Amino acid sequence: MSNKANDPSLSSWISVSPNSDFPIQNIPFGVFLTRDDVITIGTRIGDYAIDLGALHQLGYFNDIPLTDDIFLQDTLNDFISDGQKTWRLVRDRISEIFDSTNPILRENIEHQKTVLFTMEEIEMQLPVQIGDYTDFYSSKEHATNIGSMFRDPENALLPNWLHIPIGYHGRSSTIITSDTKIRRPKGQTKPKGADKPIYGPSKMVDFELEMAFITTDANKLGETIPIEDAEKYIFGLVLFNDWSARDIQKWEYVPLGPFNAKNFASSISPWIVTLDALQPFRVASPSQTPEPLPYLRQKGNNSYDINLEVSITPEGGVPTTVCKSNFKYMYWTMSQQLAHHTSNGCKVLSGDLMGSGTISGSTPDSYGSMLELAWQGTKPLRLEGGQTRTSIEDYDTVTLKGYCSNDEVRIGFGQVLTQLLPAN
Ligand code: CA
Repeated sequence: MSNKANDPSLSSWISVSPNSDFPIQNIPFGVFLTRDDVITIGTRIGDYAIDLGALHQLGYFNDIPLTDDIFLQDTLNDFISDGQKTWRLVRDRISEIFDSTNPILRENIEHQKTVLFTMEEIEMQLPVQIGDYTDFYSSKEHATNIGSMFRDPENALLPNWLHIPIGYHGRSSTIITSDTKIRRPKGQTKPKGADKPIYGPSKMVDFELEMAFITTDANKLGETIPIEDAEKYIFGLVLFNDWSARDIQKWEYVPLGPFNAKNFASSISPWIVTLDALQPFRVASPSQTPEPLPYLRQKGNNSYDINLEVSITPEGGVPTTVCKSNFKYMYWTMSQQLAHHTSNGCKVLSGDLMGSGTISGSTPDSYGSMLELAWQGTKPLRLEGGQTRTSIEDYDTVTLKGYCSNDEVRIGFGQVLTQLLPAN
């Protein structure tokens, strides 16, 4: 089944600037609060949010098998449960409704008044109720950097890393969307040279540049997902800032991995860009040596060329881009992650969120965390205006952006922006 909505020759009767992340070929899904305080599921073209609940009530999806209230909900979970066939029918229909050659809604000003909102009129919400959150650790460069710093540069990658997409179970209760402010966490740390740990505000708050994919119901308990089927169960992707407290992490992470260093906040961008919309940007993932076990072997292009960047803005200051990376640097693909996750029969549900792990490239300006960019505090970063940073300071705002582009179309994720407030 093709994705008609991806046709690069399409244009919309809603005007879209050439550098917009949201041309008619994107059609992401999100949840927003309207000017009338109604929560609805929507999409976005250019700088307009589109109320899909209202469109459905007006009959624009009549011949697609959808329940009456599918878009009148405060999360996308039920729509995601409907599966890939329905996502494609709905995305293609939205594309038809807003196609510049289609007069039906274009000429109906009354309908437009109930369906269209400017971005200033709405407030984006968390798009899904996240049941389970898993975080992988799939960038070889990141794992090598961390292994070099925390352990031994000669044996930076642990022996299992090239065989297993390493991951751990995170906590979904603290996943927030863009523009939600967070507090500096407090926790237990052991300062250098001290013989006892202390409790207090973290002194090393960090971002992690990640992306996350959101799944549909994938399997029954005990069933595995073959790697060649894995992408069918991926609804779409968001930008993901997996906030971390490095001093807490360093003291607590042995023997069971991170705990309170990672579960105080993780921020996602509010529009889920579908995996379908990203198809024009498929690229090869890094070659894998040694060859993975058969259940993790793949052929063809299984990664996506998504440009990523991070900026830091001090209170009252201007943004400084501190990192430029790309999703395609990931050693393990999303299909490998999902196939491995379910290889023991673990059940995956609609609305589960899987983080990629910090995405670092091979050059120092592509490292996806302050820990790596400032190399454990030894190489402070200089911001526009002269301030320096080795970690995130109170009132700093961290912004992640991501987009794909080729000669024909640009598909973007918008941004996820978070301000860090002082500890309570
Ligand atoms: Ca992480």
